[in-house]
Amino acid sequence: AFWMPFTANRQFKAAPRMFASAEGMHYTTVDGRKVIDGSAGLWCVNAGHGRRQIAAAVEKQLMNLDFAPSFNMGHPIAFDFAERLAAIAPKGLDRIFFTNSGSESVDTALKIALAYQRAAGQATRTRLLGRERGYHGVGFGGMSVGGMVNNRRAFATHLPGVDHIGHTYDLARNAFSKDLPAHGAELADDLERLVNLHGAETIAAVIVEPVPGSTGVLPPPQGYLQRLRQLCDKHGILLIFDEVITGFGRLGTPFAADYFGVTPDLMTTAKGITNGTVPMGAVFCSRKVHDGLMVGPENAMELFHGYTYSAHPVACAAGLATLDIYKDEGLLTRGASMAEYWRDALHQLKGLPNVIDIRNVGLMGAVELAPRKDAPGARGYELMVDCFNRGLYFRQSGDAVAVSPPLIVERSHIDEMVSILGDAIKRVA
Ligand code: PMP
Repeated sequence: AFWMPFTANRQFKAAPRMFASAEGMHYTTVDGRKVIDGSAGLWCVNAGHGRRQIAAAVEKQLMNLDFAPSFNMGHPIAFDFAERLAAIAPKGLDRIFFTNSGSESVDTALKIALAYQRAAGQATRTRLLGRERGYHGVGFGGMSVGGMVNNRRAFATHLPGVDHIGHTYDLARNAFSKDLPAHGAELADDLERLVNLHGAETIAAVIVEPVPGSTGVLPPPQGYLQRLRQLCDKHGILLIFDEVITGFGRLGTPFAADYFGVTPDLMTTAKGITNGTVPMGAVFCSRKVHDGLMVGPENAMELFHGYTYSAHPVACAAGLATLDIYKDEGLLTRGASMAEYWRDALHQLKGLPNVIDIRNVGLMGAVELAPRKDAPGARGYELMVDCFNRGLYFRQSGDAVAVSPPLIVERSHIDEMVSILGDAIKRVA
């Protein structure tokens, strides 16, 4: 029922959770109830709802230059925005390709990786690797490298040659861990297995979310991403971080690459780039990859890839206003000062009925409930509905609830969220 066609949705009895407006940390439903936003929309409204500054910038841009092509032509605001993004990018990732969504950012990054390998004389490197329990959007590339089998099964055609690293998160070993557990290098070595299986000379790139979000907030154990970086370097494989969720302050650093101290070759973003307002995405690219690509007669990414709405001026205006807010309010690092309170509040839920794990990193968090026998996901769904009815919205992920509030969250909001959640967990037992 979740992504019903909207015309049909009107008649769909089980889906009357309708939002009418939003302000700050809250939604208001069509029947006038205030609901705290526990998931920053869908992990995108990092500066909170209803930001006038963004609205004003969008209106001004619409009246001044509503659309302009980025093909053979250009407009200064796109360069202004790219330069501002480059200024906060992880070291060296300061070449920007614009897209309109997370899915487009992923497909663009995968295409950049393939074109780069080819331009570097590595034409046999055509294989793309993802990870079990990874989510990378719904394009053919993102769906194929994605590690959610159900998201692929219904669609017969996938990219050929894709494979997936296993052992993303070891629930049994990590359960209730307040900090990143150890054994990261050991889990990351599963990439070595795929290299041995397929041959390094066939592999173009590996894409991972630094912290898988949509599959339940799965913080990597210590050393995991470092080890992936090492293995990619050793085998000539490009490393792509999908930071569509973790980008723009979610972990208390501008990007997860900063948090973990690991720099990928490419980084995909969207969502928080415009505070969830105007659709927009961007791929951040290392100079090595950019310079390897944007030269010579083949120059694939300039000649053969781009969207009508690449660097849409209205989205750039929304993005610039968003970056101003992030800067003025210190939001890209605010999570660092809230993370401990967030962690301790979430971990108060330990010991409640059916709670089998609690996970946190920065201002991301999840509470995992034991699945009901023969009805996986039912308990998570009931929890989501119960919380919604009592004033808390969050994104359900099977039997896990993902709570990741806007970065403007105050301690009192955290207390309120955890209290509603705790009561609901007891009720759906
Ligand atoms: N990658 C990640 C890590 C995501 O979380 C998402 C969306 N939840 C996407 C890609 C796809 O983004 P979009 O829905 O904007 O296409």
